Amino acid sequence: MSDKPLNKSRRDAVKTIVGGLAAVPVMNLVATAAAYAQELPAVDPATDPTAQALKYVADATTADRAAAARPGMDPSEQVCNNCQFHQVLDGEGWVACTLFPGKKVAAGGWCTSWTKQG
Ligand code: SF4
Repeated sequence: MSDKPLNKSRRDAVKTIVGGLAAVPVMNLVATAAAYAQELPAVDPATDPTAQALKYVADATTADRAAAARPGMDPSEQVCNNCQFHQVLDGEGWVACTLFPGKKVAAGGWCTSWTKQG
């Protein structure tokens, strides 16, 4: 009598359990990041001195990105969501930026410090 079917079944069960256990922390991180993103205030270009100094705008299409073009990507494609300084928060339009600690910026925003992700 062969034990191959049983071993395969056991391997499949172990894979399922390990995969499920691995997914739990990832799901928790996503949920935590989303909750964190909701709590962060958005950078207000009208009142935030750093935003004004860096000419941050929540809608990159309204900025003169060509005038402050940084190497590595066409200026029309440069947005917070592909900037080296951003960190994904909720995947719903907001990102964290290391230049604006404790606040969130628009994923489609832009500022003169935009730098291509390494
Ligand atoms: S540094 Fe990058 S992520 Fe931060 S506001 Fe400027 S363009 Fe957006």
